[in-house]
Amino acid sequence: MTVMSDDKALAQIDELVSIRHDIHAHPELAYEEVRTADIVAAKLTEWGIEIHRGLGKTGVVGTIKGKRPGQRAIGLRADMDALPLEEKNGFEHKSVHAGKMHACGHDGHTTMLLGAARRLAADPDFAGTVHLIFQPAEEGAGGGRAMIEDGLFKLFPCDAVYGMHNMPGIPTGRFAIKPGPMMAAADTWNMRFKGTGGHGAMSFMGTDPTVPAAQFVLAAQTIIGRNLAATDAGVISVGHIGAGSAAGASVIPSEVYIVGTARSFKPAVRDLLERRLGELATGIATAHGCTVEYHYIRRYPPVINAQEQTEVAIAAAAKTVGAEQVNGNTTPVMGAEDFAFMLEAKPGAYIFIGNGGDGSGGGCHSVHTPLYDFNDGIIPDGVNYWCNLVAEELRSP
Ligand SMILES: [Zn+2]
Ligand SMILES: [Zn+2]
Repeated sequence: MTVMSDDKALAQIDELVSIRHDIHAHPELAYEEVRTADIVAAKLTEWGIEIHRGLGKTGVVGTIKGKRPGQRAIGLRADMDALPLEEKNGFEHKSVHAGKMHACGHDGHTTMLLGAARRLAADPDFAGTVHLIFQPAEEGAGGGRAMIEDGLFKLFPCDAVYGMHNMPGIPTGRFAIKPGPMMAAADTWNMRFKGTGGHGAMSFMGTDPTVPAAQFVLAAQTIIGRNLAATDAGVISVGHIGAGSAAGASVIPSEVYIVGTARSFKPAVRDLLERRLGELATGIATAHGCTVEYHYIRRYPPVINAQEQTEVAIAAAAKTVGAEQVNGNTTPVMGAEDFAFMLEAKPGAYIFIGNGGDGSGGGCHSVHTPLYDFNDGIIPDGVNYWCNLVAEELRSP
């Protein structure tokens, strides 16, 4: 590999920081990442990289062929979307769009993959092909799935795919990953308890759906406590309860609507949560002379890291920051990530890069909060990780 002068490397990092700040200041929500995609496409083109646009509406794919012969192809993925959140930071690069903010660091992910693209294009000293996948709509809207449905892996066949996310609470200069389940399946469910409703003073004349609804909220936690093996992981949470009117103190509502989330790692646990939520709601509603309409919506599958690619990722991270700074058996998190769809389609590995903090989750602002910011100081490690990963993955046969 060509060794870059320190001055040149520093200048490139400065440029990456300004790209990051520009994207941060102009956050775009799911499938609206037009300006961001324009920046990505313009930079890749400027650096001589062949691009393809429009998969998943705003997705961009850049392709770099190695100068050494090789049939293997890999995908490196970054996400581009922001969140519907009001930024409370006061720095110069704060969001100029009211109610929108890069509060998950996807501005940084896009920037780090751009940095790697530039380096790999300047010196494609690897055997095979690298596809740089810039995806839209990671935050709940399934942009990864949309790109796959639009033919991502047919147009750009990949033998393996890799993803990276910053993680506040992990100190800078560290990486964390594990083989197997890394992030949870994220599903939503909703229940509509129905009765006749009635006069609050003459409750005996009708059926009251608030009673089974309240019992259901408590009973739902027994699924985790009594039905799930203590060694398995799962979460059920209620996110919204709606019924009646705040002005109607003496009106028994005829419907109670409850919405929640369910998280799991194993398919069998996912099936269990879906089944038991329905059984409890139906049984409790029936016991009170009410009915319930139940919907369980499978949204994101779990992020499952393949053993072989996890080992490659660990080796690349170790080459970047030293083996002692890489946790190869990190604790999985119950959050979700739509890179899971790519990992369903192809073997691969998803890694956390420390965004700063005290190592126990404190000393930093969490993602999805108004004072969060991606840490510019980790851009060099992120770029080096991607380049080391390519070197590791696409060695000469
Ligand atoms: Zn997020
Ligand atoms: Zn994110």
